[in-house]
Amino acid sequence: MAESEPLIGIDLGTTNSIVATVQDGQPVVIKNRTGVALTPSVVAVSKNAKRLVGSIAKRQAITNPQETVYAAKRLIGRKFSSHEVQDALRSLPYAVVAGQHDDLRIRMGGRDLSVPEISAMILQELKADAEAHFGRPVTKAVVTVPAYFNDAQRQATKDAGRIAGLEVLRIINEPTAAALAYGFGRTVNGRVAVLDLGGGTFDVSVLEISQGVFDVVATGGDTYLGGEDWDNRIIEWLVFGFAKEHGLDLRKDRMALQRLKDAAEKAKVELSSVRESHVNLPFICTPPGGGAALHLQATLTRDKLEDLTSDLAERVVGITTEVLGEAGVRPSELKEVILVGGMTRMPKIVEAVRGYFRREPCKGVHPEEVVALGAAIQAHALAGQDSELLLLDVTPQSLGVAIAGGYVRRVIPKNTTVPTSATEVFATSKDFQRTVKIMVLQGEHEMAQANELLGEFALTGLREAPRGQVEIEVTFDINAEGIVSVSAKDRGTGLRQSITVTASSGLTEEELKRIIEEQREYLLAARLSEELKTKRVELDSLARDVVDALTRARLLPGGGGLAADAMPRAEQALEHARRVRDAEDVAALTRACELLSGCLTQLRGSAQSGARR
Ligand code: AMP
Repeated sequence: MAESEPLIGIDLGTTNSIVATVQDGQPVVIKNRTGVALTPSVVAVSKNAKRLVGSIAKRQAITNPQETVYAAKRLIGRKFSSHEVQDALRSLPYAVVAGQHDDLRIRMGGRDLSVPEISAMILQELKADAEAHFGRPVTKAVVTVPAYFNDAQRQATKDAGRIAGLEVLRIINEPTAAALAYGFGRTVNGRVAVLDLGGGTFDVSVLEISQGVFDVVATGGDTYLGGEDWDNRIIEWLVFGFAKEHGLDLRKDRMALQRLKDAAEKAKVELSSVRESHVNLPFICTPPGGGAALHLQATLTRDKLEDLTSDLAERVVGITTEVLGEAGVRPSELKEVILVGGMTRMPKIVEAVRGYFRREPCKGVHPEEVVALGAAIQAHALAGQDSELLLLDVTPQSLGVAIAGGYVRRVIPKNTTVPTSATEVFATSKDFQRTVKIMVLQGEHEMAQANELLGEFALTGLREAPRGQVEIEVTFDINAEGIVSVSAKDRGTGLRQSITVTASSGLTEEELKRIIEEQREYLLAARLSEELKTKRVELDSLARDVVDALTRARLLPGGGGLAADAMPRAEQALEHARRVRDAEDVAALTRACELLSGCLTQLRGSAQSGARR
C-alpha cells in the first residue's frame, strides 16, 4: 500500500517556530536537525553571503546585527506608515524600507525582501527538518496565526507558505490550535479559555468543546503585545541606567543594541525562576572621545521587572475581560483556563490570570509545543484521517465598508462563525453616477479611517439613472481561514465584479510568482553548492591518499611491484583533479574522484603484494 503523504502543522512564532505531525495516531513535535524542538525565528545573511536560519542565525546576531532579521512576524502584512511599524523601527537593528504599496521591505544581503520572503525562509527550514524526519518530501501544512491577525496578515502568511514550497492546507488560529491539542484524547465538554502570550502577540479565545466539536465563541487580542515588549522595557531600563552613569545613549550602536536585547531576554527568562538576575555586558561601548571601553553591569530583581511592566500585565487582563464579556461568560463559568506561549511561564502572568479567574490555570499542556501539535491534528483531520473532529472558528474583527461622512457600515460583526457571507445593498448617491468605489475595511472603529483598509475596488459602467435608483448588491465572504473576498453586482444590469482582497500583504500575484521562481533557483543553487562542497571534500581526501600511496610505493624497492603505468597514471589523475577542483561542475568532480579512487586501489593493491614479497 502506498504510504500517505506526511502532513505537518507549523507554529510560525515571533521568537521561535515549531513543526509537528501526527504519528501512530499521536501528535508529536519534530525535532530540528540540531535535535531540539524550537527553531529560533531568525534569518541572516552571513559575511560570506550565506543564508542562515534558526539557531545558527541567532548565534551570529551580535556580530552581524544589520544582516540578522528577527521578529518578522510583528511586521508581516503591515503597512510601512502604520504606527506599529514606525514604533518598531526605533528598536530594530536591521534596516526596514518602504515598499511600493505602503508595504515594507527588509534590507538583507544587499536585497530588499518582503516580509513573506523572510517568513518563507523559516518555513523552508521547518519543511527541511520535517523532510529529514520522514526521509521524503513534505509539501502540505497547516500553519497557525494569532487569532487577532487581520486579512492582510493572514494573506501574507499564506504567501510565505507558497514561497516556501508548501501548500498551506489551512491557516488556523493559534489559541484554537492549542484548544485542539488540549482536547485531543480527552473527554472534554464545556467552555474553556485559551490565553496565548508569545514573543510578539497576545490572543484570547473562548471555546465551547463538545464531543469533538471545537466551537469558538469569541476571540480577541493584540498583535503588538508579547515577550518583545517585556524585553524592550528591560532594554530601556538598562539604557537609562547607563545614560545616567556615563551620559551615553547605547541605542545608537547597533551591536550594543543587539547585545542588550539578548541580555534583556535572558534576564527576563531567568527571573521566572529566580528573584534576581545580573546583567553583565563588558566592553559595551567606547566613549566618543576615546578612552577605555565601558562595561554595563546591573542587577534586575523580579520585583523591579514586574514594576517596569505592570501596565503590560494589566493589558493582558484587560483584553481577557473584554473577550469574556463578548463571549457572555463569567470567569467562574469556565471549565478550564489554558495558558499557551513562552511568556505564560512568567510568575506575574500566572498570578494575574489566577487572580482574575480565581483558579489555577491548566498545567496539562506544554506552552510552547501545544500550538504546533494542534496544527498537526488539524492537518490530519483535513486530510480526512480524523473525521471525528470539527473546528468552528470565528472572524476576529468586524468587516465593513466605508460610507458617506467617513463612517463604516458594518457588514459582518466580529466573532461571527466562519465560513460566512453577507450581502448588502448600496444605492448610488449622485444623479447619473456611472461608477461606485467600494472600500473594504476591517476593525471595530466607527470612523473608516481608523480601520484597516483591506482593499478597494470600483464597479464601473453602471446604468445612468437618478440617484438612489441604481442598486448594487455587495457580497462579502470570509472563508474558514478568515480570508476575505468580495463581489459586487449591479441589480439592474446584472453586471458583476469581484475582487479577492489582497491590499497590504504587499505582494501582487506577479511579484509572488517571481519570488517563487527566485526561491526555486536559490534552492537549486544552494543544493548545487552543497553538492560541490561535498565532492571537493571527497576529492581532496582522495588526492591526499593517492599522494601518500605514491610516496610509499616510491620508497619500496622496485616500486613494490607496481604495474609500469600505475605511477604515471596516478600522477595524471592528480593533475586532472587539480585542474577540475574549482570548476562548478559536479559531474567533472565525480569523474575526477572515480579516477583517483581507481588509482588508489591499484597503488594500494600493489603496495600490499610488494610488502608481502
Ligand atoms: P513563544 O512565541 O511561545 O515561543 O514565546 C516566546 C516568548 O516567551 C519569548 O519572549 C521568550 O522570551 C518568552 N519566554 C520563554 N520562556 C520564558 C520564561 N521561562 N519566562 C519568561 N518568558 C519566557
